[in-house]
Amino acid sequence: MKTDIKLLENGKRLDGRKYDELRPIKIEAGVLHRAEGSCYLEWGGNKVLAAVYGPREAVPRHTQNPLRAIVNARYNMAAFSVDDRKRPGPDRRSREISKVISEALENVIILENFPRASIDVNIEVIDAEAGTRCAGLTAAAVALVDAGIPMRDIPVSCAAGKIDGQVVIDLGKNEDNYGQADLPVAISPRTGEILLMQMDGHLTMDEFNQALDLAIKGCHIISDLQKKAIMEKYQKITEVK
Ligand code: ADP
Repeated sequence: MKTDIKLLENGKRLDGRKYDELRPIKIEAGVLHRAEGSCYLEWGGNKVLAAVYGPREAVPRHTQNPLRAIVNARYNMAAFSVDDRKRPGPDRRSREISKVISEALENVIILENFPRASIDVNIEVIDAEAGTRCAGLTAAAVALVDAGIPMRDIPVSCAAGKIDGQVVIDLGKNEDNYGQADLPVAISPRTGEILLMQMDGHLTMDEFNQALDLAIKGCHIISDLQKKAIMEKYQKITEVK
């Protein structure tokens, strides 16, 4: 991470946010007709679609687990989602993000209910502005609920980090590029269990604890938005009937 541009001006961030203020978030459940469950999420300049298929028989058959379902999350960034056109298709970064999101989701989905099945979670980033793994996981969780997949909780994700020596929540694009650390976290909000944690950059132990507290605070705010989005979808259906 480079640190040659000023990211804080009189305690305010470049986009005017306070240290503990999230970028605007909008969540909509059930936006796709062919998927079992889906979600569209906007978070700052990020736009993400999540679509869930299954549980269905896992193929090829050697991937099946006779005792439980497997979760295949596939994170993909569209070529047009970033300033310099991204080479289409999977790369190291998208494989890593797919893996950590799959593992986070496996810890909340009641997998034992669906032996030999796979639950496929497609995450398409159509506009990217930092924090897309948090946005993707948060959208995937809503899509899983929309698909009726039984879960112990609705997972949620948010990052915190450090810019110009200050610990802040939810880094934007410049903050991610020129800041000193980024700490994406996902939790089960009901139990507080940490489902994902990664870190880029350097933090002291004190800063790490502050960043973790801020990220968890953000998770709880976003968790309420997830629930609202799910309630709204079912409200609409009730109204039409
Ligand atoms: P996250 O999106 O979860 O923060 P990274 O820290 O790896 O993941 O990426 C930060 C941001 O950098 C992305 O959200 C995106 O805006 C940008 N980015 C990532 N990969 C590319 C790429 N191949 N080309 C251009 N920009 C990219």
